[in-house]
Amino acid sequence: MRRFENKTVVITGGNRGIGLAVAERFAAEGANVVIASIEPQVEKAAESLRAVGAQAIGVICDVTDRNAVSALYDRAEQQFGGVDISMHNAGIITIRRVEDLTEADWDTTMAVNTKGVFLCCQEAIARMRKSGKGGRLINTASGQARDGFIFTPHYAASKMGVVGITQSLAKEVALENITVNAICPGIIHSDMWDYNDRIWGEMLGDYAPGELMKDWVENKIPMKRAGTGKDVAGLVAFLASEDADYITGQTINVDGGLIMS
Ligand code: NDP
Repeated sequence: MRRFENKTVVITGGNRGIGLAVAERFAAEGANVVIASIEPQVEKAAESLRAVGAQAIGVICDVTDRNAVSALYDRAEQQFGGVDISMHNAGIITIRRVEDLTEADWDTTMAVNTKGVFLCCQEAIARMRKSGKGGRLINTASGQARDGFIFTPHYAASKMGVVGITQSLAKEVALENITVNAICPGIIHSDMWDYNDRIWGEMLGDYAPGELMKDWVENKIPMKRAGTGKDVAGLVAFLASEDADYITGQTINVDGGLIMS
């Protein structure tokens, strides 16, 4: 399927992990792809997309910086003439006992995960409104936006904030052919998950690296496997496609059924 020919997608946190898998999916379906992250490796990731025939660029952009976010969307417009789909996926996590959580943990997590999503939504909506062509916004929340988890109240709050942004903006732009939805990945293989596995593993009782994941996969996920970036990309591509024309303001789990356990 090449459902996204002549469409341009912006993906923050698109140089690795879930974001890169989503970028690869859009590239395979014919989209022009703009990936953004803070590290210069973003250009290398864009190169890997171009190597398989995609139109792709990498842009260094700290999503907490309004000017940088604005410049990201300028760059997408200059290169490809507009933005049709915008996925706000950049995210960070720290894991600490409540007495050890610092104000810096709180502020940085909120700045990237919540304010960063908002700034990107704001910029994308402004461009989509101006073009009059509508568009698709997809915000990455987390299973923690549903019920939180131990040692990460700041992360859970930041992701619950993403759901609030999604629902509020979906109502505001509903008449302009712009949909806004959020996704809640469960346990997905990535650098972030490796960190979670190691730190939660230690804090929850001396799991060796990889053991916590194994335990959760075997005992908590009904489908008995961790997710991959490709699993998430399938949902994102659906939400960006014409098949999802009448879906907005929704928060959808992609977690092998983890939410039920
Ligand atoms: P990774 O840690 O693998 O990747 C995080 C991405 O976010 C990187 O591309 C990183 O860029 C980017 N990023 C971090 N801070 C900023 C910033 N200030 N500005 C721009 N980009 C930034 O994470 P995942 O791929 O696992 O996670 C992607 C999203 O999915 C996150 O929002 C995460 O919270 C969410 N999620 C992940 C789950 C999982 O199990 N993996 C579960 C639930 C939700 P750089 O490489 O330049 O640092």
